[in-house]
Amino acid sequence: MLLRTIGCWTPYPRAAEACSGYLVSSDSSYLLLDCGHGVAAQLTRWLPAEQLDAVIISHFHPDHYVDLYAIRHMIRAALFLKTRQQPLSVYLPAEPAHLYKEFAAMPELQVNTLTANSAFMVGNMRVQPFPVHHSLPSFGVRVENQNQSLVYTADTSISWSLMDEVKKGTDLLLCECTLMAVEGDFAQQLGHLTTTEAGRLAREGGVGVLLATHFWPEYDVLVLQREIEQEYQGKLIMAAPDLAITI
Ligand SMILES: [Zn+2]
Ligand SMILES: [Zn+2]
Repeated sequence: MLLRTIGCWTPYPRAAEACSGYLVSSDSSYLLLDCGHGVAAQLTRWLPAEQLDAVIISHFHPDHYVDLYAIRHMIRAALFLKTRQQPLSVYLPAEPAHLYKEFAAMPELQVNTLTANSAFMVGNMRVQPFPVHHSLPSFGVRVENQNQSLVYTADTSISWSLMDEVKKGTDLLLCECTLMAVEGDFAQQLGHLTTTEAGRLAREGGVGVLLATHFWPEYDVLVLQREIEQEYQGKLIMAAPDLAITI
């Protein structure tokens, strides 16, 4: 599998960059994890949206879903121009219901509900969603292909269930890392992870590589990295636009 970071910022992107969006591919199958501000335009630098096989929206915060409106129009154009024959498979949380229903009514999209314990395939990638703790209903996902595994935390606070999920075996942990070490109480309250918690998750979870992401544009990413390194001495990559990582 190959993972490409399309965007890594929250809750707004840096100039000419994007919020949460990660393109996972295996053979010629393409899965987009999240689709925040700016992702549609940045994605098309690597892949025409019409070639997407599926999109997963972890939760309905704008930095994770709002460019699905643009992707929808790209698919609509491709259907009209006959460069694509099928609607795009999209996996969404059922809540908030008004947003779910809005996308479910779009003929360009084939909308499915994300639920715990309901795995599905995208090409030869097996996708297993799992619920995480956030201010809105939110799902992390495990993506597996043959012997390779990727776990995406989405937006979440630290929990035993998340630790247990990572411990099942994770070659690449794509982990949100929203706040600094001193902001632990605030992180718990908002449903996010600190640098320290992301590092602990990687260390105790025994991951192959930690890919930290979901940064506030005003932070110095190098400072965040040093905080993670206090907790975790394994292989660490700080997300940046256009990074490609083989899993
Ligand atoms: Zn969120
Ligand atoms: Zn977010």
